[in-house]
Amino acid sequence: MRDLVKFAWEKVPFYRRHYETAGFSPEQLRIPTDLEKIPTTHKALFQQADLKNLIARDFDTSRLVKKRTSGSSGSPLNVYYTPEDRIYRTLMHLRILFHNGMGWRDRMAHISDSRHATEDRYSFQKLGFLPKDFIYAADPAEKQLTDLAKINPDVIYSYASSMSLLAAEIERQGQSLIHPRLIFTTGELLSPDERECINRVFKVKLRDIYGVVEMGDVAWQCPALDGYHLNADSFWVEIDAGGRPAQPGEAGRLVITNLHSRAMPFIRYEVGDVLSVAENVPCPCGCTFPRIKVLQGRADDWLHGADGHKISPLIFVIASIPGVQQYRMIQRSYEHLLVEILPGSDFGPDTLTKVQEHVLEVMGPGLHVEVKRVGVISKEASGKMRRVISEIEP
Ligand SMILES: [Zn+2]
Repeated sequence: MRDLVKFAWEKVPFYRRHYETAGFSPEQLRIPTDLEKIPTTHKALFQQADLKNLIARDFDTSRLVKKRTSGSSGSPLNVYYTPEDRIYRTLMHLRILFHNGMGWRDRMAHISDSRHATEDRYSFQKLGFLPKDFIYAADPAEKQLTDLAKINPDVIYSYASSMSLLAAEIERQGQSLIHPRLIFTTGELLSPDERECINRVFKVKLRDIYGVVEMGDVAWQCPALDGYHLNADSFWVEIDAGGRPAQPGEAGRLVITNLHSRAMPFIRYEVGDVLSVAENVPCPCGCTFPRIKVLQGRADDWLHGADGHKISPLIFVIASIPGVQQYRMIQRSYEHLLVEILPGSDFGPDTLTKVQEHVLEVMGPGLHVEVKRVGVISKEASGKMRRVISEIEP
């Protein structure tokens, strides 16, 4: 941590200014409790800063991998990391899958929010290891199941909500043509009912992965299914209970430092999700990473197509459409969806049209999609901004 903070102070103008404003400097870090003196950061601070002030000197932005968060606030952030960091993230990810019993030859179906998912293939994939196919999450559940049957995957990796829709569709059809051995979910919190339904239909015990797009996979479930193991070798994690560290069992807000990525450092970054630390007892799975409990997070409302089928807010890519600074979707009824757009600097005459085309494509026919340019997107009384609001009675 001390090394990283010193690096950021010397190489990243954003941190130099942020720390100087708060009267902090790296020399103040002498004993572990001094870490609490490091000023925290959050997404809005990154969004307000110029990109060139966020990237460490000596890193060439054109050589970096760019990833865009969709984020629960509806306002995206571009995150940059090096090709080496990308490999590191992949390895962290594979460690989770392998610890849970996946093998090199297992065929994976990745249910993705991108219609034409083009992932750079690693050389081991060209050799036939870890074969992976993509399924488009916005396709109707029936079509996804047909595509999945062709792939016949051993492993499925998916948004929790997509998995839960597929399970419901299989129950409706009365039988399943696919028999994955392992299911991994990510991106949203599952209700106990949804988890139970997926497990029952697919005859598995699904494992959930808690990720933060800015950083990668942070915590994950193991075969013991009791809490989430924290990738404590890659992140410095604090659970803040109102200005002091949470005690075991106590809830607090996640503050996290990415220890492995220097191109665009995230130091004491407030994610906004609420977690708690589990009691420090050894896990029967053999993994010695500490465990946390994920309590509450980015649970968005669901949207509904005109025929009533559920659509996850996660599969929209509105935030990536040029000219969109922030957005919010308000479903008034099964027939009417309002999309509010706060224009960004590259807003143009076709921004609203592009948003409408995209939303219509995902939502399907029979729904009136109204796209409106607004001057401000207001927050909830809690201070949190909801990206999706459904006014349909459950
Ligand atoms: Zn375990």
